[in-house]
Amino acid sequence: MPGVTHWQHPRFHAYFPSGNSFPSILGDMLSDAIGCIGFSWAASPACTELETIVLDWLGKAIGLPDQFLAFKEGSRGGGVIQTSASECILASMLAARAQSLKRLKQQHPFVEEGVLLSKLMAYCSKEAHSCVEKSAMICFVKLRILEPDEKSSLRGKTLMMAMEEDETMGLIPFFVSTTLGTTSSCSFDNLPEIGPVCQKFPCIWLHVDGAYAGNAFICPELKYLLSGIEYADSFNTNPNKWLLTNFDCSTMWVRDRIRLTSALVVDPLYLQHGYSDATIDYRHWGRVTAYQDCKKYIRHHIKLAQRFEEHVVRDKRFEICNEVKLGLVCFRLKGSDKLNEKLLSNINASGKLHMVPANVNDKYVIRFCVVAPDADESDIDIEQQIITMESDKEFSEELDLQMTEKN
Ligand code: PLP
Repeated sequence: MPGVTHWQHPRFHAYFPSGNSFPSILGDMLSDAIGCIGFSWAASPACTELETIVLDWLGKAIGLPDQFLAFKEGSRGGGVIQTSASECILASMLAARAQSLKRLKQQHPFVEEGVLLSKLMAYCSKEAHSCVEKSAMICFVKLRILEPDEKSSLRGKTLMMAMEEDETMGLIPFFVSTTLGTTSSCSFDNLPEIGPVCQKFPCIWLHVDGAYAGNAFICPELKYLLSGIEYADSFNTNPNKWLLTNFDCSTMWVRDRIRLTSALVVDPLYLQHGYSDATIDYRHWGRVTAYQDCKKYIRHHIKLAQRFEEHVVRDKRFEICNEVKLGLVCFRLKGSDKLNEKLLSNINASGKLHMVPANVNDKYVIRFCVVAPDADESDIDIEQQIITMESDKEFSEELDLQMTEKN
């Protein structure tokens, strides 16, 4: 298959996993064979209702508060399948923008909507995925990118100071996007601090992006990483990353579905039907293997990442650059960025292993993510040998260069 990057290859360690499994492929085939589209309940009632049931089931497994589940008594929330995490973040930012503009228009009925829009300010950490910046561009709103702490975690105090400063300048904080499990280093923003800060400001929408790490919260021992979720207005995770589900499947939950759908409603006659009051129309929302097996699979990946980390720590030429909580290890040779760039480029050029770099605390690091569904300890051991061998070459070349320079 020329020109194809083999995401499921056991030596592929770039990005985050791209979910895949036999039941998921069968599910896709079945859905393709039926060829139905569930943009509204009437367009395919079973499609819509199955989606709601599965989203409630997954939300419960992750440990989301009851307000996010559609079938809980008194709940106004619910979940929806989107195509990507980027789309989830865009949809929540659009909803937050609509909510804020509505409130501002009531307060200032004679001010142009464009003027009000120009006052809105969104916030995220420097470590947030670039899709937050893109969403802000699409929404025509300002975005303030904040500095995280030394563990790449956005803190409440930093956010508070920025929001207060902006308010004094006449701007209106309306949206905060936080991340649990950042792309570069799988760090976690401090939600228990950020949540109460958001509550001090009227009309702030707090979004939590757990594109990769969110899947891991199905394991009871990892639920502590979700602490602070009770403050969130919306949450997303990608089963197509770490729950053995084929691309594309990004799941998103909101605390108040009316606040989301009212931002996205257009209602031509041909899409209306007689059951819209009693049912869900997902067009307004933006549009497996056994559960036990998924937990086993996530725990297995975490164990393999820890094994890789131990290998790296034993070689004193290297340093670990992130807190390894899940399946991602960021490491580098103690040396210049250039040296690390060369090492990664040589490893990737060898075709034996594939990884990508990231910038963590202003240093070039190499990301090793456990990705393959059936990887085992021997894969990790062989990969460490490949990295050691390439590093040996790097060091002997550098030594040769130093000797030549001396002579
Ligand atoms: N958010 C985080 C934390 C991610 O790691 C990623 C991708 O890796 C994204 C968002 C974007 O995901 P998607 O490609 O589904 O839009």
